[in-house]
Amino acid sequence: MLFHPQICKLKDEKFQPFISPEEIEAILRNSQNPSSDQVREVLEVALSRRRLSMEQTAVLLCAEGEENRRLIFEAARRLKREVYGERIVIFAPLYIGNRCINNCAYCGFRASNSAAVRRTLTDEEIVAEVRAMEAQGQKRSILVYGEHPAYDAEYIAHTVRLVYATRDDKDRINRVNINAAPFDVEGFRTIKEAGIGTYQIFQETYHPEIYRRFHPSGRKADYAWRLTSMDRAMEAGIDDVGLGVLFGLGDWRFEVLALVRHTNHLEACFGVGPHTISFPRIQNASNLNRASLNLISDADFEKLVAVLRLAVPYTGLILTARESKELRNRLIDYGVSQIDAGTNLEIGGYSEKRDIQDLDKEQFELMDTRTLAQAVDELVEQGQIPSFCTACYRKGRTGEHFMEFSTKGFIKRFCTPNALLTFAEYLEDYASEASRERGRAMITRKCAEIEDRTLRDTVLDMLSRIRNGERDLLL
Ligand code: SAM
Ligand code: SF4
Repeated sequence: MLFHPQICKLKDEKFQPFISPEEIEAILRNSQNPSSDQVREVLEVALSRRRLSMEQTAVLLCAEGEENRRLIFEAARRLKREVYGERIVIFAPLYIGNRCINNCAYCGFRASNSAAVRRTLTDEEIVAEVRAMEAQGQKRSILVYGEHPAYDAEYIAHTVRLVYATRDDKDRINRVNINAAPFDVEGFRTIKEAGIGTYQIFQETYHPEIYRRFHPSGRKADYAWRLTSMDRAMEAGIDDVGLGVLFGLGDWRFEVLALVRHTNHLEACFGVGPHTISFPRIQNASNLNRASLNLISDADFEKLVAVLRLAVPYTGLILTARESKELRNRLIDYGVSQIDAGTNLEIGGYSEKRDIQDLDKEQFELMDTRTLAQAVDELVEQGQIPSFCTACYRKGRTGEHFMEFSTKGFIKRFCTPNALLTFAEYLEDYASEASRERGRAMITRKCAEIEDRTLRDTVLDMLSRIRNGERDLLL
């Protein structure tokens, strides 16, 4: 049984708000100071690959003490290894424009921030950015936009098509996701037709009062419109949606439970949960007033990632370069499945080669400024296969994380081989001699671990075809 049924206060109906702060707060109150036995019981459920209820998730969130912490991290590490294997999917964001009608208090792009330098890429500039990203070896990108009438559904669909069209045999972005303001169902249909992968949008905070405080004006001030974005996206046929919370606004435990509640809602209304969850933490931004924030410590942040891994095991977890490389390297073991690498937040920053951060030109400050090549090298050192795979999306296997999780042998049959094949292409086309040698050694080791002989021979054959110049081979 994959889903854990639970009684929720607000009924799940499409397009209707489903968050009750009282319900979430009551669950947290009733879960204070759980014993280690209670924690163990919940971890057993998680390790048997069942999704956790809000009550079970609250037990982990409220568990205090070193022993409980150790148990939670150990279980998250085990689940990550057993379910997903040792591979990390890599992508990079591409900022298209920062015009914005909203006034999110934490964001450098907010309308009232007169220090922000406003810019929207022209089509030629988008092409130049994509070419620069492709020259690094990027294969997956998420396009990011402010909220503005100029960025309507037709415009966004146009930019997505443009990115896909900027390709040749070797250099190509194979999956274009977007992070953009929510649309009505019709708008989402227009965007889906352009072939987007994931539609990602963060609720920022699920607490209605705190939400009002940080979003005083503009379209985004409407909490319910934002909360029901994913319903409209899914109604329009977008199967892969990415949820997220901006940590540093509300109480972190409340927000994690709300993410689980949102997952319940999507499962109840559409039969499938979110494709990914992101957990950005507030970073410094142009003219940011830190006094109003409710910042979260590294220790709590790490715990919330481990708890999310256990609570929603079939959902991909994204950790961005907002965090330091040390913290990212650590959290990869406890549940993160996707990271961005080689990221440049400045609009036009990839092709204009801006290495120095200028907060008036960027949305927030980046903590991990490694190049893609450096991040790839470190993943290899950690024994993680850097994956540029987009096979499921391209073969119509949407909801890929769900499949990885629920289809026996899927990871061994598809994900690990495809990670190896896409990494091999990267090594041939973009890596330095030294990185290529180390990477090839890793591929040889990982191939030897493929138990099914026929599959191993197929992968070895494809790898030698890649070395002989063939591209885009996938299972
Ligand atoms: N404008 C759209 C919106 O607000 O949904 C789309 C993208 S917005 C540029 C991307 C995300 O960046 C926001 O949803 C927010 O969570 C995050 N963000 C904003 N300011 C931030 C800051 N100072 N530090 C870290 N993340 C921030
Ligand atoms: Fe605009 Fe998005 Fe920044 Fe809010 S978070 S000010 S909507 S770009």
